[in-house]
Amino acid sequence: MSVVTRFAPSPTGELHLGHAFSALFAADRARDGGRFLLRIEDIDATRSRAAFIAGIEEDLAWLGLDWVRPIRRQSEHLDDYRAALVRLDRMGLVYPCFCTRGEIAREIAAAGEAPQGPDGPRYPGLCRALTAAEAQRRKDAGAPFALRLDMAKAAALAGPLSWTDEAAGPVQAQPELFGDIVLARKDAPASYHLAVSVDDALQGVSLVTRGLDLFPATHVHRLLQALLDLPVPRWHHHRLLTDASGRRLAKRDKAASLRSLRMAGTSAGEVRAMLGFYTKSR
Ligand code: GLU
Repeated sequence: MSVVTRFAPSPTGELHLGHAFSALFAADRARDGGRFLLRIEDIDATRSRAAFIAGIEEDLAWLGLDWVRPIRRQSEHLDDYRAALVRLDRMGLVYPCFCTRGEIAREIAAAGEAPQGPDGPRYPGLCRALTAAEAQRRKDAGAPFALRLDMAKAAALAGPLSWTDEAAGPVQAQPELFGDIVLARKDAPASYHLAVSVDDALQGVSLVTRGLDLFPATHVHRLLQALLDLPVPRWHHHRLLTDASGRRLAKRDKAASLRSLRMAGTSAGEVRAMLGFYTKSR
């Protein structure tokens, strides 16, 4: 079966060299008869900008990349995420969470400690104990709420899971490390974890390539795939690019933005060579 990869940037800033590496890596893995897709992760309407989407396409085309159309824009597929949420809800795995950040922080401080998950302290589970009647009363009163996954229940239902990373080898999934993750935010209809899992399946992605910073997230994605009966791809979490002082490149590093490099006269060939991709990917 031919490999299907994707590059899935969030349009919240300009692409930098780290993104270029990631995009070239994905395209390169699909080079021999595979398909390279582009997905715009713009589910967070408060941070996404149309101008950045245009910039992403411009930068990638400049790099010499081509992708199979159409581009999937998450904001155009909210029904797909809603359907997944309904399914998880029917399985009894979802509960509304009315907590503010402040309430969560106070609860953690009062408890004296909170187990750390890969995304920070784990949610202490305040709203998991709400009765259905109380949750409904708060909803009726117009209180904003997120939707969380009851992780203990979900993990028990799914049973032991594993996944394969091309670089790290076989990995035992440990989604419990995250605690009750958010599936839909108060201000966004789906969380990153949910949207990515649904999208990779719907787009037929067979090899998920992305930076090592997202390695832990795969534990959760593997669980969601099992719960939602989605196909299981392979993964390749690649190295992260750092600046001269060893810090991971971020959107704040304007000098490394592809646009700045282009404006400064750097050629796409030079960027590709700098990143170790000497031939045109497609
Ligand atoms: N949208 C994510 C980001 O820009 C990447 C998601 C993924 O590759 O799974 O960091």
